[in-house]
Amino acid sequence: MSVIYDKVALIGLGLIAGSISLAARRAGAAGRISGTARSARSRSAARSLQLCDDITDNAAAAVRDADLVVLCVPVGAMGKVMAEIGPHLKQGAVVTDVGSVKQEVIEQVTPHLPAHVHFIPGHPLAGTEQSGPYAGFAELFENRWWLLTPPEDADPAEVSRLRRFIRALGANVEDMEPGHHDLVLAVTSHIPHLIAYTMVGVADHLTRVKETEIIKYSAAGFRDFTRIAASDPTMWRDVFLTNKEPVLDILGRFTEELFVLQRAIRMGDGEYLHDYFTHTRAIRRGIIEAGQDTDAPDFGRSAKPPAGKVD
Ligand code: NAP
Repeated sequence: MSVIYDKVALIGLGLIAGSISLAARRAGAAGRISGTARSARSRSAARSLQLCDDITDNAAAAVRDADLVVLCVPVGAMGKVMAEIGPHLKQGAVVTDVGSVKQEVIEQVTPHLPAHVHFIPGHPLAGTEQSGPYAGFAELFENRWWLLTPPEDADPAEVSRLRRFIRALGANVEDMEPGHHDLVLAVTSHIPHLIAYTMVGVADHLTRVKETEIIKYSAAGFRDFTRIAASDPTMWRDVFLTNKEPVLDILGRFTEELFVLQRAIRMGDGEYLHDYFTHTRAIRRGIIEAGQDTDAPDFGRSAKPPAGKVD
């Protein structure tokens, strides 16, 4: 594979940036990779993992001469880092991000963009409940979707170059309108995380079930919830604060549906429950057939996730 960008700068050095770096290196898609992280701890971890050619505490220095800049910080910090790097970006540089919410990131970042750069927002639908530089791995994006939300006036040549880079990381690329992205992700990722956080919270509050029992007898359902509910608190706080409307919309529908199921249980309507669960089982089969998960009864037991969960 030939080099797609001579210099790639990663702003933030956690799970996603680390995985981008490892996957780009493996594919030979980046000439040089520079990186910056807020804490000395993350910078030193990234150094010991040799994630980048240069690691600095100075975001302005990291983006100097970079052809591609990838913002890999929590959604709520995107505007602040963009304001910091804006004046130091190379003429014609491409800026993208990996944030789990798109409308709010676009609103935060756009005011700080110099006219001479191309902003092509993105979101890899791949991740794990781990965070930090040590959590990254080169296979994270393999056969996962990576959505881009290019503005209408985006330079087609730059969009297609970025697509090429993302494909080199192993992902499949598709374009989506940012508002639609935020609604789709509210359904597929944000609400499922909220439900997992809630379920684990409920179990925690059940004082009549001893904590040891919850942990000792945690069967697949609860154990899966605890894995999701172990996701990074900062990242998820920001997701809910910045994708408020779609999340509240889908949460309203979820609550209505829950009441319908509650009524079916109370009324002993087994036929309704059976039909409902048959339908949801078919959705699971569809996900497996689409290659977005395996049907191995693994339940998160393997040390590294075989494929990233959708975030
Ligand atoms: P991560 O492992 O926690 O890494 C986040 C990085 O951002 C760290 O280097 C952290 O610096 C830095 N950071 C945090 N707060 C900051 C602030 N206020 N100002 C400047 N830097 C800050 O997170 P991640 O999982 O890679 O997520 C990064 C982005 O990818 C997020 O926008 C998230 O929505 C998106 N995303 C995540 C997943 C997932 O499953 N994790 C999947 C797809 C997309 P320090 O470590 O030095 O504090």
